[in-house]
Amino acid sequence: MNKILIFGHKNPDTDSICSALIMEQYDKKLGCDVEAVRLGDINKETVYVLEYLHIEAPRLIESVEEGQEVVLVDHNEFPQSVNNIENAKITAVVDHHRICDFKTADPLYYRAEPVGSTATVLYKKFKESDMEISKEIATLMVSAIISDTLLFKSPTCTSEDVEIANKLALIAGIDMQEYGLNLLKAGTDLSDVSEEKLINLDAKEVMLGNIKAVIAQVNTASIPDMMTRKEKIEQEIKKAIKDRNLDLFLFAITDIINSNSQAIVLGNKADIVSGAYHVTLENNTVFLEGVVSRKKQIIPVLTEASKK
Ligand code: MN
Ligand code: MN
Repeated sequence: MNKILIFGHKNPDTDSICSALIMEQYDKKLGCDVEAVRLGDINKETVYVLEYLHIEAPRLIESVEEGQEVVLVDHNEFPQSVNNIENAKITAVVDHHRICDFKTADPLYYRAEPVGSTATVLYKKFKESDMEISKEIATLMVSAIISDTLLFKSPTCTSEDVEIANKLALIAGIDMQEYGLNLLKAGTDLSDVSEEKLINLDAKEVMLGNIKAVIAQVNTASIPDMMTRKEKIEQEIKKAIKDRNLDLFLFAITDIINSNSQAIVLGNKADIVSGAYHVTLENNTVFLEGVVSRKKQIIPVLTEASKK
């Protein structure tokens, strides 16, 4: 029998990688034969965590065979999951996203909570099982929480995330502000990333009603710096729209210092963005004041707008 594979979503972020590694430890302690894997390149923010801990990145996989047992962390929507997920056997999901078009043939363990990161849910699982949280696990957990909540500034952040992160920082032996800012800043160094990669770095394909959309996001310390690359970014977005038959592509450039986003929007349904936020698109771009969370401030808003 193959090992049970544990993975987060495609274009993995820090929560997806760390949560897969944490879940692997959790399942191993229960005696399960599991392996954490990943569905894409490791971003620079995650590299910072792995190098800090001197641990290897999980193995990359492209697809799974029919009947392969899998555990999903940090996602549930099939378009964001591994290729051939439809024919895999999902034994467990631990997540903190909306549940969309999710269907299995067999019963499974499913845990989802509306908290800031999957790692927050995993912390609770460790506690409920009376499992010790090592320095390494604590560092993985607190890194995932910092990453997903933008150091507690995102509206997805709950008081539970803050409370748990503070406990974890003690175990990890880190200074939250110092470590957190270094972690987030590591992720904003995108100067050597091509525009083609840039638009896929943290991209999620979602259905907004009947609209096939990709919502991509990058973090930056300077929106104007990133906007100097607008033309090339637009070229790549247009290619993606054509190749993947998309109705909408929204590329959010999120200023992690001031908590705003500038969005580049293209596609035949670009208009729903102006309607949704009551703004006018100028040169395919729009400033979204106070918007930092795709999950809370973009996807639900556009889903609502898609119904009109
Ligand atoms: Mn994620
Ligand atoms: Mn997450």
